[in-house]
Amino acid sequence: MALPPLRAPHPASGYHRIDCERRFFYLEQDPTTLLRVKWLKVAVTCPVCAAGTGLTLVLEQGADDTVQVRCPARHHWPEPAIDVAHFITYSRLLHFGALQPDLMWIADAGFGEDPPPPIDNLEQIRQIATWTAKRAVRKGRTKVKRAVRTPLRKARRRALRAAFTPVAAALRAAWVLRTGALPAAPARPPRPPAAPKTPPLSAYRKAYRMPAPKKRFACLVCEDTGWITAPGVSIKCTECEGPVAAALKAAERKAGRARTARAGGERARE
Ligand SMILES: [Zn+2]
Ligand SMILES: [Zn+2]
Repeated sequence: MALPPLRAPHPASGYHRIDCERRFFYLEQDPTTLLRVKWLKVAVTCPVCAAGTGLTLVLEQGADDTVQVRCPARHHWPEPAIDVAHFITYSRLLHFGALQPDLMWIADAGFGEDPPPPIDNLEQIRQIATWTAKRAVRKGRTKVKRAVRTPLRKARRRALRAAFTPVAAALRAAWVLRTGALPAAPARPPRPPAAPKTPPLSAYRKAYRMPAPKKRFACLVCEDTGWITAPGVSIKCTECEGPVAAALKAAERKAGRARTARAGGERARE
């Protein structure tokens, strides 16, 4: 059978042509349901090579009784199962929009080309998530690096400056010698005068010939002897522990103070 030449579709003059990328479905009444009409979607398939995609469907009103189909492999066959009225309605829908709303149920029932698959942006979402995570990691790493690098740089700069100070002084001296002037030490700002020290109180006492205060007794009863003595009486002091105990206690206090001072110093050094 010779292939009829293909023309541009012109539904208004009765020439319908639909080129499909995806599968094309026609409607067939479900024979199992008796009480209500149910339509089944059936895909158009090439009887020779079983191709279901890339089909071209043609119907010329007045010339064809059935829809003519050709597949990409140039097989050509009439498809009487496709309802001609459905096909014309669908072709008009494609070209002119929904002119007959009461006939649009065929599109709802699934007549026509398979709708394009939904846009699969799952991969994009995954990429964005990966990118965001990587960016967060990168930013965090930059932050940490900066926190480490800045003090390091500062220390290095300080060390370099300290190391090059004598070199700079020598260069300056050489330059001054070459230009003829005597090398002069850079002028230092004058040191501020130290504040006068306050002499201890004993120095004042000595200068004014004041008598030093006498040592007071810790225990006024026994005058730090530990014994209450009177004519006919010699007993241990009842108010204090005696000089030996007082000395021991003083020594213990001193040792305790030294211990706390050492502990405090160690804590401060940590
Ligand atoms: Zn074929
Ligand atoms: Zn006493």
